[in-house]
Formats: sequence, structure tokens, C-alpha cells
Amino acid sequence: MPIITRVMSIRTKGEGDMLDISEHVSRAVKESGLRSGIVTLFVKGSTAALTTIEYEPGLLKDFPEMLERVAPRDIEYEHEKAWHDGNGHSHVRASLIGPSITIPFVDGRLTLGTWQQVVLIELDVRSRERSVVMQIIGE
Ligand code: ZN
Repeated sequence: MPIITRVMSIRTKGEGDMLDISEHVSRAVKESGLRSGIVTLFVKGSTAALTTIEYEPGLLKDFPEMLERVAPRDIEYEHEKAWHDGNGHSHVRASLIGPSITIPFVDGRLTLGTWQQVVLIELDVRSRERSVVMQIIGE
């Protein structure tokens, strides 16, 4: 079974940046020529995450606000005591959301819902160059 690996490089603007990468993913699947299978995505690094969301202005505010409630910026993190890099909250948020998602595709199309987009979330406190590794597995 063929496995096609593609790496996407994306420059993020910094903390809270949520980038809709659905088009990149669906293009990669089309270009693979495979009809049916899965595409698995993985972001390298411990302060970024991947998930899906309805990419609309309300949720683009609601989601970061939820993260602030769950893992607030202004509490103490043990990570800071060792590294002093100001991103203890970024690390715990990234682990909670996770670095990877898998999406099935059928007839060369992702099986996403109409209002469901794939998003890369920058959780670090500064702009970063992110690599998203895609593996397309199918027939
Ligand atoms: Zn750190």
C-alpha cells in the first residue's frame, strides 16, 4: 500500500494564531492520486497543535478563551522554573489538544463535515516556523 509523505511549512503569527489548513490537506490528497484511505497529520514541536473546528469568527475567539480558562497564562508553571521561556501554558495547552489528527478520504475527498475545517494552532508566545508532516495512506 503506497504511503506518500509531504511536509508543509507554515509561518505562524504567534500565540493564538489559528490557521485553516484544510485546502493544503485536500490538495495533497488530490495530488496523491489515491482514491480511498487516510491522511494523518502531525505538527512537530511541543507548543503547537492540530484539531478541527468550524472556522468562523465566534469560535476563533471562543477557543482561545477556553484555553485561557483551562490553562491560564498568569499562573505558575514548573516549566518556567527550569526554562524561563514564558511558555509553560503553551506546553500544557499543546499536550491537551494534541499534535496529530487523522482524516479518512473517499473518492479522493476528505470526509470533513461542511462546517469542519482543519486548523493548526500556534500556542507558543512568539511567531514560529511550523512543519506539518502529512502521510497519505491508501489505494
Ligand atoms: Zn518552554
